[in-house]
Order: sequence, then structure tokens, then C-alpha cells
Amino acid sequence: MFKSNLCLYCSTPMMASYSWATFSWSYQKPLLCTSCEGKLAPISGTTCSICSRELPTAEVLCQDCSRWEQDGRWKGILGKNTSLYHYNDFMKELIALYKYRGDTALAEVFAGPLKKCLSVYKEALIVPIPLSDERLMERGFNQSEQLILKAGCKPVHLLARIHSEKQSKKTRRQRLELPQIFQFKSSSPIEGKQIVLVDDIYTTGSTLRHAAEILLESGASSVHSLTVAR
Ligand SMILES: [Zn+2]
Ligand SMILES: [Zn+2]
Repeated sequence: MFKSNLCLYCSTPMMASYSWATFSWSYQKPLLCTSCEGKLAPISGTTCSICSRELPTAEVLCQDCSRWEQDGRWKGILGKNTSLYHYNDFMKELIALYKYRGDTALAEVFAGPLKKCLSVYKEALIVPIPLSDERLMERGFNQSEQLILKAGCKPVHLLARIHSEKQSKKTRRQRLELPQIFQFKSSSPIEGKQIVLVDDIYTTGSTLRHAAEILLESGASSVHSLTVAR
């Protein structure tokens, strides 16, 4: 009769709480138990106006973004990256289970907040960061595309990867000088369109900036991004 559902992370049974909200359209059954939910650390307060990094003082840009913005090639390339959560130990674990163990149901945890953020960009094309064919074969799904689908949006595939994913080991200088890692692969023009890139993690911002550069070169009017964690 009273069916309990399990926490998507730790499998603790959760009793569905029946209240008036159950019958309103906004009711959503909990996906994580209160203990797991409490380990999510939403990003709040003063943040970098480009990358969403929390800043101790009311500076406009973090050091990293200042450096990107001082570089002629990268200045103004990425509009605004919105990240939902801090990449803490729990988030690392959650994303690892999702991405590497293929527990795609976990994407539902982020679906509501992603949907809310995406609703701000009414006319935008929602574009997943592509994986290389090799990586896609190995993983079986594209984590960015799944996030968009779970958020109830339509992923528009505009990019293909021409270099592999191994970028994080590079130094900042190498990242600034890196040749383009994506190519534009759509037959429909994107002239004047606003784009929102979706990815799971914002690490150095290099991947998103490369994607944004190629989309702007292909005619997009602006490129923003939305990432689950940073
Ligand atoms: Zn739990
Ligand atoms: Zn920043």
C-alpha cells in the first residue's frame, strides 16, 4: 500500500510522504535520502561572473577566468557558465557512478535543477559536449546528452570531437595554446542563435571554451554553459 522507494545512491528505503503536495503538479518524489541530499553542496553566494566559482570577496572574475580573458584568442568566448554544485567527495562519487558505472538513473537527481536553469534560455539550442567515438563506444552513452534528455530538453548535436578527451594533465599555458578539439558538424545553420552547452563537470574551462570558440566561428550569437558541478 505505502510503497517505499529507495535512495538512488545508498538504497536506503524512503517512505513517500503523502501530503497535499503529493497531488499538486509540482510534487516530485525524493530521489535521494535526506542524508545523501544533505551531502550535495549547492553553489551559492558571491561567484565569478563567468565560471560560477565561489569567491571570498566581491571580485568580478576568478584568477583563472581573468587569465582566459587576458588572452586575445579566448577573450569573451564563453558567456556564463552556471554550475549547480561543488565537486566535493560525494559529488565525485555520484558522478563516477553515473559516468563510469553507467548508473544513468542518477542523472534524474540533477534533472530538476538543470531544467530550471535551462528554462532561462528560452530560444537557445541546448548542445551536449560530444565524446570521441572511442569513448562513446566504451561508455555506451554520452553523459551530457543524458543530462539534457532527463531535464526534458532536446539535445542538438552540433559538434564532433577531433582530439581525444585527455586534456586535464596539460599545463595552463598548453591549454591556452591547444589546437581546436572540436569541429562543427551540423548541416543546419546556427547564424544568430544562442547556445547553451551542457556538461557534467567544469574543470579548467578549456573544453567548454573550445566548444564555444567553434560555435561562435560557425555563427552563434553567444555561448553559455551549464554544468552539474565545478
Ligand atoms: Zn541515500
Ligand atoms: Zn571564473
